[in-house]
Parts: sequence; C-alpha cells; structure tokens
Amino acid sequence: MRDFVTRKARPEIFSLKPYVPGKPIEEVRRELGIKDIIKLASNENPLGTSPKAREAISEALGQMHHYPDANCFELKKRLAEVHKISESSIVVGNGSDEILMLLAMAFLSSGDGIIYAKPSFAEYEFTARIMGAECVEIPLKDFTHDLEKILTAVTPRTKMVFICNPNNPTGTIVDAGAMQSFMDRISEDVLVVFDEAYQEYVENPNFLSGLKYVKADRNAIVLRTFSKIYGLAGLRIGYGFTTPEIAQALEMITEPFNVNLLAQVGALAAIDDIRHVEESRRVNSQGKEYLYEMFNEMGLAYVPTESNFIFLDSGRDCQAVFKALLRLGIIVRTGDTFGYPTFIRVTVGTRQENERFINGLKKVLAEQE
Ligand SMILES: *Cc1c(COP(=O)(O)O)cnc(C)c1O
Repeated sequence: MRDFVTRKARPEIFSLKPYVPGKPIEEVRRELGIKDIIKLASNENPLGTSPKAREAISEALGQMHHYPDANCFELKKRLAEVHKISESSIVVGNGSDEILMLLAMAFLSSGDGIIYAKPSFAEYEFTARIMGAECVEIPLKDFTHDLEKILTAVTPRTKMVFICNPNNPTGTIVDAGAMQSFMDRISEDVLVVFDEAYQEYVENPNFLSGLKYVKADRNAIVLRTFSKIYGLAGLRIGYGFTTPEIAQALEMITEPFNVNLLAQVGALAAIDDIRHVEESRRVNSQGKEYLYEMFNEMGLAYVPTESNFIFLDSGRDCQAVFKALLRLGIIVRTGDTFGYPTFIRVTVGTRQENERFINGLKKVLAEQE
C-alpha cells in the first residue's frame, strides 16, 4: 500500500513548505563540473572555524567513544560567566534550530498562534506548522520589524512572537527605543523569542539585545549560535538564555545527548577566541563597505546590513542571476523564496571572494541587460 503516509501521518506535516538551504559546494561541483567554487549563500564565516576551537576539537578526537555530557556543564558554566547569568537560565541545542523546535514542541498545539515578520527566518513557521499552530505573518516595514503591527496582531491565542534581530534575510535591526516600547506593552502571557544569530556582527549602537528582558525575568528567550561568527556551522551547536522555568520545560523534552561531544568542546574554546571573533568582525565590516561602494557604483539598491550578509536588488529575475552566477562558481541565495523576485542575498566574504562576486555580478548583469 503506497498511501500509508497520506492516511496515517499527522496531517500537519502536509502543510509544511520545505526549507531551502544554501546550495552546497559539492552539489555544484557534481552538477556543473566546476572546481573553483565560492559559497556566499549560508552566512558562514569566510575565515573558517575559530583556530582555538579547531585545536580543542583535535585534542578531543580520542574521546569520541564516550557519550557527551548531557548537561553541557562546562559550556553552560562559561556562558554563564561571560553573560553574567545563572546556569539555570541557559539551554544548549543541536544548533539554535533545535531550540526553536523544542520551543514549538513545549508550547504549541493546534489552536495556538505565533507571530513573526515576513520575510524572516523560515524555521519559525516550519516548527509551528509541525505542531499545528496558526502562523500570522506581519510584513516588514522599510525592511525592518513593524513592532506596532505585531502588537495589534496579538490575541489571547498568541503563544509566541519572534523577533529576528538582526533580521535574516534583510540584515536590519530593531531600534532600541521601539523595542523598549514594544516590551512595555506586550502581554506577559506571550513568550517573546529574540533570535540573535548575528548579534556579534552588529555595529549600530541602537541595537538592544533581548538579554535585558530575560534578566528582568520577562517571558522571553534569546537565541544565539556558534554557527555564524564562530565558524562551527557543521558541528551544530546553539544556545539560549531564558527564565529558569522555561529552561526547565525545554530540558524536559530534550533528547539526553542532543549536543555532541566535539561541538561542546569546540564551542567552549571558541567563546574565548577573542582574536578570531575580532578579526571576523573586522573582515566583515571592511567587506560590507567594499560591497556598498561597488553596489553604489553599479547603481544597485541594497539594504544596509548589521550582519554578515546583504539583501540586494539585482533588478533582474533572481533565478536567472542565481543560475548565471552558479555557472561562474559563485553560490548566492535567491530572494524569490522571501517574496522578493529580483533580490539576492549574498554573504560578505573575504576581500578576494567579494571581488570575485562583484566581477561575476557585473558580467551577469551586463549579459542580462
Ligand atoms: C543561521 C541562523 C540560525 C542558526 O542556526 P543554527 O541552527 O544555530 O545553525 C538561527 N537563526 C537565524 C536567523 C539564522 O540565520
């Protein structure tokens, strides 16, 4: 019988839109036979993994036959010291993606609702839909969160509101004053999820981390990750700060060994690799300026970013631009999946990668004139 899944699976899974990941380098190699490929599609660190993390991971290879620490004791201890918060407020996950899934599993049933911005990170909708919750999307205003509209959309059914800050795919931040005013007014019965995956890249002094509200004992959670600036995307490890009560609820439904041993060791070392973080920030900042200058010269509109990627209007069909760039060995992300059919999202790379991207883009746009 072929229709087993259709008949027996939870109906919620048929409402899912599959996640579209950045195209992997190996896949482009297989499909197009190109050797020299750069991936500017998943906001990975172009400088690679923190050297301190690499060293610690190499040293831990001999321990791999052991199960990891189910409580991530050492990592939580260090995170608690660095962020001046209690260990009991910290959750660690197999990527912050896992924490998003745990939040949905712990809090959402059919009949509940969540609110997030459009476009924003796809996982909020994905995890909520699996649990059968209703998704309310509030369009961005000037490419940033429209907090006033989000507030008016809150109903007694709303369980969670997601604020991706800086926002993926636009790179914009929420103004600190607007955030404070929002938090002053939103119901205490709504869990506010601050996704701060790109927080380390922010340069704008008007940024306010949600950590302030967690420390003030609000029903909030701040999500951070080792995938981006720390260069550990392949190991899968992210963390969150929340109230001990919420942390405990998530803990109850977490698989015993959700965070692998090498990830714990690598993350612990990466936290104190200040040099790598600062160098990554510097390269990103200079890369941004270079790309802005080139986009201005080329007459292309873009959204100024507080992260390590730029959302830009190619003025052409994004799929055509994407495919033409791919043939040149340059992987970017298309804007159509975010509702912007002429936009592309490009990760800021090394100077060399940025130059190669700009030269490729000039060529591609001239061909598609
Ligand atoms: C990359 C990213 C994450 C991090 O995901 P991990 O599962 O920790 O790799 C979370 N939120 C946003 C908005 C992201 O772009």
